[in-house]
Amino acid sequence: MTAATRIGGDRAYIHASTTRTYEDDLDLIAIEYALNGEPVQLTVPEKIRAAQILDGRGLDFSAIGRRVGSDRNTVAGWKAHGWQPPPVDTDPLPIDIGRSQHGRCGYTKGCRCRACKDGAKEASRQQRAKARAKRQAAA
Ligand SMILES: [Zn+2]
Repeated sequence: MTAATRIGGDRAYIHASTTRTYEDDLDLIAIEYALNGEPVQLTVPEKIRAAQILDGRGLDFSAIGRRVGSDRNTVAGWKAHGWQPPPVDTDPLPIDIGRSQHGRCGYTKGCRCRACKDGAKEASRQQRAKARAKRQAAA
């Protein structure tokens, strides 16, 4: 064990936090290395999580890109999409939908990213619930 990776250790050291369930799949130690400028290979979801933390620390996109092994435009894109990790394997990356918001009900202007898919799923769930209520009221 080293002091550098101990949670609750040196205050200058940036720690990866666990506030969302998907972080269970992330290597938090690897993320911490990236946060603190150590060279490390990260998966894309790990890069995004690290970028989000660094953004919260006020680093600019270029500096964030250097730490996580990406470029400023990619980092900006992650932030624009709410730091959502890209969907596993089959889900496409978010497309440019202008000023519209990803994740609203239905596919947003043809975007099939995870946020938009989840929005569509939730919308159809609500539609089914409404139809069910209607049928029950009629019966
Ligand atoms: Zn989308």
